[in-house]
Amino acid sequence: MDPFQTPIVYLKGVGQARAEVLKKELALANFEDLLRHFPFRYIDRTRYYKVKDIQADLPYVQVLARVVNKQVIGEKHTKRLVVQTRDDTGTLELVWFKGINWIEKTIIPGQVYIIFGKPGFFNGQAQMAHPEMEIYNPGNTQRQGNATLQPVYNSTEKLKQFQLDSKGIQKLTASLLELHAKDIKENLPLYVINQFKLIGRAEAYRNIHFPADANLLNEAIQRLKFEELFLLQLKLLRNKLLHTQKFRGNVFGTVGHYFNDFYHHKLPFALTTAQKRVLKEIRQDTQRGVQMNRLLQGDVGSGKTVVALMSMLIAVDNGFQTCIMAPTEILASQHYQTITSLVGDDFIEVALLTGSTKQKARRVLHERLESGDLKILIGTHALIEDKVQFKNLGFVVIDEQHRFGVEQRSKLWRKNSVPPHVLVMTATPIPRTLAMTLYGDLDVSVIDELPAGRKPIQTLHFFENQRLRVFGFMKKEIALGRQIYIVYPLIQESEKLDLKNLEDGIAVMSREFPLPDYRISIVHGKLKAADKEFEMQRFIKGETQIMVATTVIEVGVNVPNASVMIIENAERFGLSQLHQLRGRVGRGADQSYCILMSSHKLSHDGKIRLDTMVKTNNGFEISEIDLQLRGPGNIEGTQQSGVLDLKLANLATDQELLIRIRKFVELIFEKDPQLALPENQILHHSFQTKNAGLSWDKIS
Ligand code: ADP
Ligand code: MG
Repeated sequence: MDPFQTPIVYLKGVGQARAEVLKKELALANFEDLLRHFPFRYIDRTRYYKVKDIQADLPYVQVLARVVNKQVIGEKHTKRLVVQTRDDTGTLELVWFKGINWIEKTIIPGQVYIIFGKPGFFNGQAQMAHPEMEIYNPGNTQRQGNATLQPVYNSTEKLKQFQLDSKGIQKLTASLLELHAKDIKENLPLYVINQFKLIGRAEAYRNIHFPADANLLNEAIQRLKFEELFLLQLKLLRNKLLHTQKFRGNVFGTVGHYFNDFYHHKLPFALTTAQKRVLKEIRQDTQRGVQMNRLLQGDVGSGKTVVALMSMLIAVDNGFQTCIMAPTEILASQHYQTITSLVGDDFIEVALLTGSTKQKARRVLHERLESGDLKILIGTHALIEDKVQFKNLGFVVIDEQHRFGVEQRSKLWRKNSVPPHVLVMTATPIPRTLAMTLYGDLDVSVIDELPAGRKPIQTLHFFENQRLRVFGFMKKEIALGRQIYIVYPLIQESEKLDLKNLEDGIAVMSREFPLPDYRISIVHGKLKAADKEFEMQRFIKGETQIMVATTVIEVGVNVPNASVMIIENAERFGLSQLHQLRGRVGRGADQSYCILMSSHKLSHDGKIRLDTMVKTNNGFEISEIDLQLRGPGNIEGTQQSGVLDLKLANLATDQELLIRIRKFVELIFEKDPQLALPENQILHHSFQTKNAGLSWDKIS
């Protein structure tokens, strides 16, 4: 058995009670958990301060001094232990207010100590409260005690009651390593270790806890970080490979007249380089005879739908049916309109199927799908639950807007013997490293450029006291025939406050933009679905000029005539949400604007968010900054993935390393898909055992 799976209670110095609190407080249940409970910082103990050099504003310092006197003074509340120490430059007073009796007993007058703590001054006298004390022993070369870099571990008040402060945990770790360092087996092939100049695994674990020096600490962290990312990519890419072997796919062998006619005679513009690249990627995927699972990321308006349509035409050229699923009825009808207007009349039939499709029409649709006559169907998710039977569905497009859960979606189709190819479109770009990890077993395509000639949305940041200017601007735009969104934040914790916010906003706007010259739509989460729909439709049809809303409109309506997006309390929105909202405008020919309203009180991050919005329109750039600000754990979609189990690697700061590793692992599988070569045996092994380093079952 793997010794690291031993319950922690069996470690020398632990016992029942301590085992319980370790489990409860830090989730440390076995030896492996303790081994992977890494220090969160290290204290540099290479330098001793002289007493005369001590200043009050110094952080933790280390002093070498002899105890000359110890004394318990005061009564009850003022009771304290005061210890005088000296070096050759002055006196340093040490004070304890707690644990007095025990400490008093351990301190030996005349003895030289390494004294470690945060210095202060009291009445002009250098002092330290509750320092760490260690008997100075010049001959002692043993690591843990005198280590130059002292590890500091997370602990809790509860643990401290069991003498499991940082020092206590350090002792346990030391004894674990003393007994079991020899059992830490290498899990990377030698050629990998050499190529990336890594230190061995056991050495890494020893040095991350008790660094011999700063250099080795660094190497230890590098090694273990590498291991995390490497094994994760190995797992993801292996899943992808297995999936490829398991699921055959339809072969789209030819590009026929539907695609060609559309491309040469119907497409009203030239494709962007990015669109062409993605089409080529999809084309390659669908010829290989394995099921495609591809994620297509691109900002709103980057031209994803056109790419989807052209891919669907290739499917039709090969005799297959296709469908698009959208998350809402509004979006489904919008796709329907976009696509019918692109293909025009008398070219190919496109049908729409949603919850509101009438029974009779529905029956006709069902028949024509079953017979295979109808080739292109657009609808909501109801498509897949509905009793819809396709004759030969070959290609499915899923428009996720900003919902993830790609895996679950694509699974729905796997019940077919030959499942259709799946293209998932998302308008929420996520950073490349995150995509590699979240969707590591999918293929990812990116449209990172907007069609030429599009006027970039201008983003402006205004403060509350500039509101009159904003009103003036709004009136000017409305006079030009444009429409305006005004969005209020919605924060679940305080629905009341939100509603009040919105109501106040509506009151102000109604006063400033009165009937009959102005008409306002109001949409918020408390409205019944039918009322919401009615209000939205009024705006979509141009009957109202202003739409006041909470973030419900985020999930996409397309009103090309709306050219101004005003976001109230913009500092309360996350970056990706702001970007998403901004994407509601800029869809027509007119210059569009996004106006961020905020109070003067901005947090550090709040200011960065607003500045970022003003500075760039690029969703990928924005997602990178979002990742830096919030860390991977808070990015939408990461919760259910293995990203959070990374202890040392950081997807925000280790991007370069991750990309190198990803490429490297791809090469390994290219050369040895089964990991059958002798040098890869060790990797094969890591799929079978639960090993100290990474538990597979936590990842998938
Ligand atoms: P997305 O689905 O990524 O939001 P769409 O495919 O709906 O983007 O395209 C947005 C708008 O831009 C549509 O009106 C579409 O016809 C137009 N469009 C798409 N690609 C191009 C292009 N290469 N050149 C000019 N206009 C384009
Ligand atoms: Mg679209």
